[in-house]
Amino acid sequence: MPAGELASLQETRLRALVGRLLRTGGVQGERLRAAGVTAPDEVALGDLPRLPMVVKADLWAAYPYGMVAVPLEDLVTLHGSSGTGGRPTLVAYTRADLALWARMCARALAAAGATRASTVHNAYGYGLFTGGLGIHQGAIELGATVVPVSGGMTARQVTLIRDLRPDILTCTPSYAIRLGEALAEAGAGPGEGLSLKAGLFGAEPWTGQMRARIEELLGLAALDIYGLSEVIGPGVAAECLEAADGLHVNEDHFLVEAVDPETGVPVPDGTPGELVFSTVTREALPLLRYRTGDISSLRRGTCACGRTLVRMSKVTGRRDDMLVLRGVNVYPSEVERVLLAAPALCPDYLLVVDEREAAARLIVCCEYKTSTPGPVPPAARAESGAGQAPGAAELEARLRAELGVGVAVRVLPPGTVPRSEVGKAVRVTRWRDGAPPLPGLD
Ligand SMILES: [Zn+2]
Repeated sequence: MPAGELASLQETRLRALVGRLLRTGGVQGERLRAAGVTAPDEVALGDLPRLPMVVKADLWAAYPYGMVAVPLEDLVTLHGSSGTGGRPTLVAYTRADLALWARMCARALAAAGATRASTVHNAYGYGLFTGGLGIHQGAIELGATVVPVSGGMTARQVTLIRDLRPDILTCTPSYAIRLGEALAEAGAGPGEGLSLKAGLFGAEPWTGQMRARIEELLGLAALDIYGLSEVIGPGVAAECLEAADGLHVNEDHFLVEAVDPETGVPVPDGTPGELVFSTVTREALPLLRYRTGDISSLRRGTCACGRTLVRMSKVTGRRDDMLVLRGVNVYPSEVERVLLAAPALCPDYLLVVDEREAAARLIVCCEYKTSTPGPVPPAARAESGAGQAPGAAELEARLRAELGVGVAVRVLPPGTVPRSEVGKAVRVTRWRDGAPPLPGLD
């Protein structure tokens, strides 16, 4: 859709959202009135940055049904997330919301090259978490065949992938690595008849280095998909197969802004900011300017694939995940970029925030691969050439240069860092009192 036509559609839908919120009342309607908005036609698309915002704490305060904008008998399903800090975030859907969600996930699958002839191996967890059922309904909407394998039981997944020959894989990026390793161990990797062509990986932030690892392990095009349950679930944005260079936001339904995480003021295109979404067509839980905490940058213009939808960069971090070390802001993804640039290291790692002293320090725990002998003295490494795992001192120097603050590195034997079978990988843990979170730490 040409940009002008899209803007006109967005404005019509934004006004409909404002009208719904004013009619429904509740915290969002009250904030609109406090901002001086009394009727939908007072709002133009360009006014969006001046409208009030809503945050996760508002959802918690209204738990479970306080922000639902339709009669409860119109709801057909609920989803949610455990959320940071353990409080649940509950999200409600009408039948129309479910249909919209299926269409958005179908778009994401189609952008990855899936068709009616495709078989989708869906290893996202099924349940309250939106990943599994979102992709499931999207695959059915597209007319593909979905295998609802869910997460875990990796040996069974390997068997199903060998027997059913899916062309599309959907799961978290960390589980894609786990599956790739299991397929290789079973002699069913790329070059051994593996049928996969593309994968849609999301629900946790991942880097370009992780993409290269997954593509190498699974011999497919590894694409990013983005969503969050508060907005609808997966399918808010996804990469296209043609460019694989930023995620197309479905902005005919989800208006997106990037704002300064501190001030809330929109940042220019190309500048990292916190993503803010307005769900202009959602019925059960319509949100005006929902702050996600996810850090990304936006880019406009027509893509090589022909889509005109704005593109968001890979999420580079979460406002909530941001670690502050001696006054310096550090995102776990920055550490991951450095670790995965070393081919002799495993993609699994754990960041231990050592809080036993008043000034917290960061211990970066990573592993060398089984095939390499592990950390060796720099002199020996220089003689043997590339392929050796870098030693802790070398990684500490690289990380200091990248992060602007010193961290400690421990290169551990393979298998020390816990692997994730289901759901999101745990990448950060806090060490307060008691036993160290991993053996060998001091
Ligand atoms: Zn594209």
